[in-house]
Amino acid sequence: MQTLTDINPDTAIESYTMNITTLEGFDSFKQSLSDPKTGASRVNLVLSCVDNYEARITINQVCLELQQDWMESGVSEDAVSGHIQLLVPGETACFQCVPPLVVASGIDERTLRREGVCAASLPTTMGITAGLLAQNALKYMLHFGSVSPYVGYVALKDFFPTMDIKPNPSCINSLCCEAQKAAAARHNSPEAVAAREAAAAAEAAAAAEPLHASNEWGIEMVAENEEQSAAPSGQQAGGTSLGESSAQNGAQGEDTKGKQTQSGGAPGIGSDVKVDDLMAQLSALNQGS
Ligand SMILES: [Zn+2]
Repeated sequence: MQTLTDINPDTAIESYTMNITTLEGFDSFKQSLSDPKTGASRVNLVLSCVDNYEARITINQVCLELQQDWMESGVSEDAVSGHIQLLVPGETACFQCVPPLVVASGIDERTLRREGVCAASLPTTMGITAGLLAQNALKYMLHFGSVSPYVGYVALKDFFPTMDIKPNPSCINSLCCEAQKAAAARHNSPEAVAAREAAAAAEAAAAAEPLHASNEWGIEMVAENEEQSAAPSGQQAGGTSLGESSAQNGAQGEDTKGKQTQSGGAPGIGSDVKVDDLMAQLSALNQGS
């Protein structure tokens, strides 16, 4: 605690030492997060950095009771992969929505631990996972970027899989099911529907607007046939735009070429010849034959 205060003296740190998986621990933990007057949560976000399933279940339960968003983190037993997960009551899966295989098969977690053998530990994997957790906590609280509901880290392959984990409507935790119903009601409320429609309309209006509303340089788009008939001489009095004049210079060049190839009496395909004129000439030829 002294170390943390030394690193950043502007932070206010409260420390609690307890085993949150005991009955008293559960109460003390919940109390530490609650406003003494209202009983509601007094924190913005809970970061979970525990190393066992029971402790995660405890945090899940307390956060569901307080309607508190939290982030879970973990590193695998072999220490070469990690994950972080965002849990928003009712909106994303809670920790019990999708139980791990060990729990789903009814295996006691303690039997998996071999006596006297410590799980592998690699400070770099721990550091990267902790860094990802801190990074996403900042993004979440300061509202920048996007926070994936689940980010994995597979160290051996430099792979960061992300996943969207939807809540399970038949979750074994009844508080989670209630939170899901409340979230659905929020999403379907007239205000929420109206807000979504307004956002869609604003998006459509923005898409319909010209891409560059202010045209500082007076650049215009001109259809090819228009530009040729408008100023065949390549000179236009006043207000000539850059695009137009260069297009006209090009047209003049074409024009000369067209005249040069006008041998043998065939009509030249100069660019100053209108398509309509060509069509008229063609139909005259057809009629004559
Ligand atoms: Zn759940």
